[in-house]
Amino acid sequence: MARIVMKFGGTSMAGTERIRRVAQLVKRQAERGDEVAVVVSAMAGDTDRLVNFCREANALYDPAEYDVVVAAGEQITSGLLAITLQALGCNARSWLGWQMPIHTDDAHAKARIGSIDTDELLASMGTGCIAVIPGFQGLTDDNRVTTLGRGGSDTSAVAVAAAVKADRCDIYTDVDGVYTTDPRIVARARKLKAVTYEEMLELASVGSKVLQTRSVGLAMKEGVRVQVLSSFIDENAPDADSIPGTMIVTDEELENAQVERQLITGIAADKNEAKITLTRVPDRPGAVAHIFAPLADANINVDMIIQNVGRDKGETDVTFTCPQADLARCTDILENQRDAIGYNRLIPDTKVAKISVVGVGMKSHAGVASTMFSSLADRKINIQAISTSEIKVSVLIDEDETELAVRVLHTAYGLDAE
Ligand code: ADP
Ligand code: ASP
Ligand code: MG
Repeated sequence: MARIVMKFGGTSMAGTERIRRVAQLVKRQAERGDEVAVVVSAMAGDTDRLVNFCREANALYDPAEYDVVVAAGEQITSGLLAITLQALGCNARSWLGWQMPIHTDDAHAKARIGSIDTDELLASMGTGCIAVIPGFQGLTDDNRVTTLGRGGSDTSAVAVAAAVKADRCDIYTDVDGVYTTDPRIVARARKLKAVTYEEMLELASVGSKVLQTRSVGLAMKEGVRVQVLSSFIDENAPDADSIPGTMIVTDEELENAQVERQLITGIAADKNEAKITLTRVPDRPGAVAHIFAPLADANINVDMIIQNVGRDKGETDVTFTCPQADLARCTDILENQRDAIGYNRLIPDTKVAKISVVGVGMKSHAGVASTMFSSLADRKINIQAISTSEIKVSVLIDEDETELAVRVLHTAYGLDAE
């Protein structure tokens, strides 16, 4: 007997028919004698709809009430899955975030999980009852509902798996594993049998939304075994225990499995970044601190930064990127700080995309970045900003060139499937 957490995303839960298919997969797992907890997302599109209602009600909505609204999508699907499992003769019940509870901090709309009370849950699972848990939801110390940020059901699943010490956390989605790049952009993307936590973390953080970044960080920290696999399968498909999807593994596991290591593991694109340029910033010590300190205080994540070569008269242009969702707040803060910083113009641009290549192999290999730059140059794709880490190179380009850039790089690094 094993203890398995199964997570189903929005497209897997979109409508009665899909939920019935999910219930059959859950039933099959439970019939193996496993203890099963299922974590579900809202139906595809529902969370977007709920977010829009909040925006329409008031553009500057109270995040605590936003959480009350957007947490509702998962409440519906968890109840529906429990009903459907019961209809198939299974013993099942739902456990809402506040009922367990899943304790979080009070950073509404992007709360972090602190701990999960599992005594009652485990007692119930021990009697053979399938636990159905809405993802995305939590509860603050003063009993307010929270949500974990978009895509947060992945994190709920991994957190539950860690708390109940599950043998595996299976993330069921609409693709059959993690690919070298988004298979919806590049038809010749290759499915990976395994990917390391470190690489998956980097891929997720630069835009591979197949897993939420926080879920990967948590899995790495807690040693949760995670598999990404498809829920769009028929009855004859191999079961999850035979690992048909992609396993997230440690470095040692990957080496032991003798999987041939590619220099580049994957390529990701992120269209959710915005670029801001401040012109004619005084070129003197402290000027850059004046720009970024208030943004840090407002919890805005700045990613790529370039300070251009100084002009005459001791002035320089500063360009940086932040999430598009924070752009309005970011420009508001900088406009208020205009005199303190002393810039001339603020130029925002949302028509940009960040393209990243990720691979542990680049730690010991030169030339990865230059291949990227020359391949893009050959296709006349202009690079607006660059950032690097030990295992990643990212460039900022025009958003319209996203798909072309990903395809060109996928070929350039030899990742295309036969
Ligand atoms: P869910 O609703 O199940 O949480 P998501 O839409 O959040 O699903 O994530 C799955 C999607 O991630 C896929 O449909 C695919 O388009 C996208 N994706 C992006 N990068 C990758 C990648 N490297 N491998 C697989 N899928 C990827
Ligand atoms: N329903 C939430 C969202 O769309 C959480 C999730 O699906 O992971 O972001
Ligand atoms: Mg998702």
